[in-house]
Amino acid sequence: MVNSFDSNAAHGAIADVWCESIVPALVEYVRIPNQSPAFDGDWRAHGHMDRAVALARQWIESRRLPGLRLEVVQIDGRTPVLLAELPGASNDTVLLYGHLDKQPPMHGWSDGLGPWTPVIRDGRLYGRGAADDGYAVFASIAALAELQRQAVPHARCLVLIETCEESGSYDLPAYLDLLAPRIGTPSLVICLDSGCGDYERLWVTTSLRGLGGGTLSVSTLDEGAHSGAATGVVPSTFRIARRLLDRIEDADSGRVLLPELHADIPEQRQRQIEAAAAVLGDGVATGFAFAGDTRAMAADTAELLRNRTWLPGMEITGADGLPAITSAGNVLRPTTALKVSMRFPPTADTRRGTAALKHVLEADPPYGARVSFTAEHAADGWNAPPEAPWLTEALDRASLDSFGKPACYIGEGGTIPFMAMLGRKFPAAQFVITGVLGPKSNAHGPNEFLELATAERLTCCIAAVLVTHGRESGIESRESADERSTTVNREP
Ligand SMILES: [Zn+2]
Repeated sequence: MVNSFDSNAAHGAIADVWCESIVPALVEYVRIPNQSPAFDGDWRAHGHMDRAVALARQWIESRRLPGLRLEVVQIDGRTPVLLAELPGASNDTVLLYGHLDKQPPMHGWSDGLGPWTPVIRDGRLYGRGAADDGYAVFASIAALAELQRQAVPHARCLVLIETCEESGSYDLPAYLDLLAPRIGTPSLVICLDSGCGDYERLWVTTSLRGLGGGTLSVSTLDEGAHSGAATGVVPSTFRIARRLLDRIEDADSGRVLLPELHADIPEQRQRQIEAAAAVLGDGVATGFAFAGDTRAMAADTAELLRNRTWLPGMEITGADGLPAITSAGNVLRPTTALKVSMRFPPTADTRRGTAALKHVLEADPPYGARVSFTAEHAADGWNAPPEAPWLTEALDRASLDSFGKPACYIGEGGTIPFMAMLGRKFPAAQFVITGVLGPKSNAHGPNEFLELATAERLTCCIAAVLVTHGRESGIESRESADERSTTVNREP
């Protein structure tokens, strides 16, 4: 079937829109300190969020997309949501997602750079929130505008931009309920808030890990005692905590021991890990600021990717009962409390895993010590449904057209609770989760940047995927419909 979408022309047009219109808008956007509500309790009074939403809204209006319905929806007491709906040639729906709230400024920006100071240097726009995730609304609308400009048919597209993501998207479920009739049942979800392994191809996020854990507390005394008198008589809470942790993690390898915290890695994901490892080389291990001669946990990149995306992983992220070193006396301390942070594999049952943690940590305490594990609410991980052949083909072709290389698939070690939410709500949908957060782009940290060429190419990829999705959902371009009817006429 003829594809009436001209990807070369799309590149030129989208590059122009980025250069003339999107970059200036994002420069203004960086200046707005619209931190997510978790970091700015007075966000309403400050008005920054409203300003950021107004900026995006005015930009969309200035593009004058025929038929586009645009509104800011705001439930009382909640952060606003920007909703843009473009009717399509069918009622099949594509949901495009992004967010406009930002992480806090952070210290350590290099000279001349700053969170609210937009600077363009070497093809990168520096400043907080352009890459995470301000560009998403502009890229989405620019992709839709290009489909209109080329008069290519597409499904109904709904661009949903929230302003609470960096606070855990706690306002989003209420909007999903409120907007359920508008959202319908999307057959494709496009999320532009993820990472990329490099800036040389389209990266598709295949899975996210879950996150949970809790506080392990061990007490052996009601008050501290002279360590000269007590050691050898009273068991150390630190040693007991070590023994308890040994029940859930092998201290030599870092492997989490509880079967409830593991999940099988699907074969397709295994293959994708091998392919991503071949592309990334030693990039996974070298991406961290290792101290001294510290090595990564494995020499093999595929093993590191497997560890990070499909295995559970534990870290102690905080402690109580331990004074700072400068005020540590010679005392046998009464209590050690540790904050246990656990990453769960994408498909692990986090509730069952958390219950197993509690059971194993509290069972049969050494010396009869007082031991408790207070679990935290766990966020589920997510594994994309098996990619439909049309989608993998479309992503590869889009990546080849835009970047000159096929797409690559990779899991993320982090968590986006919203994706698990959407995955449960729309089990039949296909997902394209992608983003511009590549090497050194440093979202959440200092010197965050948006790699402009990558954002442009990604915009083209989104347009191309929407075209193929439209065709897959039975919409034909006028050209191909004409052609077929000609063919039909010729044949008996
Ligand atoms: Zn984000």
